[in-house]
Amino acid sequence: MAEPDDSLLTQTTDTEPALVVGEIKENRETRCEDTGMEEEAVSDDPTNGEEVRLSETNDEPEQSPVSMQEDRHLVRRTSESDDIEEEEREEESTEQEIAEQYAKIRERIQKSKLYVNVEPHQWPIIYSPDYNISFLGFEKLHPFDSGKWGKVYNLLKKEGMFCDETTVCPLEATEDDLLVAHTKQYISRLKKDISEGFPKWSISVAGITEIPPVALLPNYIVQKKVLRPLRLQTGGSILAAKLAMERGWAINIGGGFHHCSSKQGGGFCAYADITLALRFLFHQGTIKKAMILDLDAHQGNGHERDFMQDKESVYILDVYNRHIYPRDGFAKRGISRKVEVNYFIADEQYMTLVASNLEAALNEFVPDILVYNAGTDSLEGDPLGALSITPQGIIKRDMMVFEFARDRPKPIPIVMVTSGGYQRNNADIIAASILNLWRRGLIACPEAEEYQGKQEPSSSTSRQPEEGETAGETPSTSNADATTQGNRGFFRSFLGFLGR
Ligand SMILES: [Zn+2]
Repeated sequence: MAEPDDSLLTQTTDTEPALVVGEIKENRETRCEDTGMEEEAVSDDPTNGEEVRLSETNDEPEQSPVSMQEDRHLVRRTSESDDIEEEEREEESTEQEIAEQYAKIRERIQKSKLYVNVEPHQWPIIYSPDYNISFLGFEKLHPFDSGKWGKVYNLLKKEGMFCDETTVCPLEATEDDLLVAHTKQYISRLKKDISEGFPKWSISVAGITEIPPVALLPNYIVQKKVLRPLRLQTGGSILAAKLAMERGWAINIGGGFHHCSSKQGGGFCAYADITLALRFLFHQGTIKKAMILDLDAHQGNGHERDFMQDKESVYILDVYNRHIYPRDGFAKRGISRKVEVNYFIADEQYMTLVASNLEAALNEFVPDILVYNAGTDSLEGDPLGALSITPQGIIKRDMMVFEFARDRPKPIPIVMVTSGGYQRNNADIIAASILNLWRRGLIACPEAEEYQGKQEPSSSTSRQPEEGETAGETPSTSNADATTQGNRGFFRSFLGFLGR
């Protein structure tokens, strides 16, 4: 891997070609000479796509995602080429056909049951035990901790933040729900029966989940053990976005499948939950403008492809490691503010970049909702994200984003999804971060806390930070008091960082 080189940091907007921040700000060529990396085209014409095309041409082809618009020869090498070509024909729709498609989508949303009833005493925090993927040990073949969602939930529960009755369990997104954003061709690629010949569906799912043996499993097992948990998490994101509009904030403990577009999955992302969550709100007229803040270490090429034609209504601010998957040059056209960072960027510089760009983004675009893709694969030691953000850096980052949403002249509803994060300690850090948001009063649900207090008469779960309190202290709740020393250690290990 390359040595850290802060001078490689770049940030651009759609109206501004690649800029290099740091000492070589004025010398774009220097960056290329210094690093030997691909030259990112710099054009005075803010609207042309030369930047993207040059960048993509120089990417290593085997790491580039399939791009049906730009890389047709690559598409035709895949077993899915027939479907892709069918989709291309589908794109040539007339206005009348488009109107009919919109009517169909609205009908699907009206019939959807995903917006389950949520009681006032329930936190707008979404989770199901069935989020977690576990079968025959296959999940161990992927570096992804496929049980991290359950670990986050259990940690929060042990710390007395909520109980089962005060959290929200989502429904699984049905095929009709998925078709609000996905194409029929894509959905069918995930479920074709083996009797139709060579099991294309299994190849698709194996590729998306990056677990090759999945290709050998019967479809019903894949559906039940792999895709159903992801459909549940997708239902969770759709519901969370709606709850955020009602409560001001919401968190889906899963979701954030930002590599999946309406037509193509990848990178462990089988369903485009972010696109779906926003499409549900747009089609119902709940929102007119949305911002996606993507702080996963990888580029969010799925939602970028989906909203590429909607930049007036969907503003995407994406901060990612420019050297790693997916390096999707075409999808970059969907980004309104692009912040590309180099390997192993550390807390201070990363936080400054996030803060300044989020401030600038919110100054030029006022969204009705902020979708926060809070991937934790930017954590130091992550072999895939290859950044160097500390655990306390992740916690501060999340806190900062919630503060930005709250402190605007008109607070912006925020929905957080947990997205990527591939190490075994990610769950601890995500839980610590959510607890920190609660402790800081950035998220709250007085009714839920009152309900829990009635369940546990001696409990006083409502938390506000106290003057002089050190961040490493355990919340003074009876539930928390009843937790094990291990949990106290958990607090000391992670929340304690904030006190330094
Ligand atoms: Zn990622």
